[in-house]
Amino acid sequence: HAPVIAIDGPTASGKGTVAQQVAQRLGFHYLDSGALYRLLALASLRRQLAVQDVAALTLLARELHIVFRDGYVKLDGVKVSNEIRAEEIGNRASEIALHAPIRLALLARQRALRTLPGLVADGRDMGTVVFPDATLKVFLTASVEARAQRRYKQLIEKGFPASIEILSQDLAKRDARDIQRVSAPLRPAEDAKILDTSNLSVEQVVGKILEWFVA
Ligand code: C5P
Repeated sequence: HAPVIAIDGPTASGKGTVAQQVAQRLGFHYLDSGALYRLLALASLRRQLAVQDVAALTLLARELHIVFRDGYVKLDGVKVSNEIRAEEIGNRASEIALHAPIRLALLARQRALRTLPGLVADGRDMGTVVFPDATLKVFLTASVEARAQRRYKQLIEKGFPASIEILSQDLAKRDARDIQRVSAPLRPAEDAKILDTSNLSVEQVVGKILEWFVA
């Protein structure tokens, strides 16, 4: 099996940025598993499926026509990299992600990306469910304030409207859903290394993970 670095953590803990940079430094592939859930959320919105319609959503998850490339993702042949970053889509993704059959439908797609020379995968259940035999498992945490600030910056840069207060509330809601759900709840794998990134730069976090990986 190709090596895998699993990076999990709550919403806006800095996983994405960090995971991409670790992948770049090692020349590894990168899996943004949240993007898969977001693509499904966007697709289901376009098809006007209800978030409670698990059967239809599971079918859609199996048939979803998507492309993952460095720097962009496509849905039904069209680039939607920016669209899937909207808060509305993130919130919808987190509701869809509650259901075991839907998660199962996305499992094989995620595992298929494990190819040489290696993979850096970020999400909520990379270390616990998708790649339980990962070479290295990292769990990133950060205070709600730090995460709301980061998400705010990201959204403003992408031209989305944002408010720190509403973002903090959204984060807390999404955290609760991710932690309390029955299927693949958000928690560190037993053998994960936990890192609080509230007061660390991206460079420091990347450095720490690379250090752990080569150790
Ligand atoms: O990480 P991101 O915010 O892009 O993920 C969107 C939503 O998808 C999360 O709020 C979470 O509920 C869900 N998700 C998940 N498992 C993953 C990745 C994301 O349940 N591996």
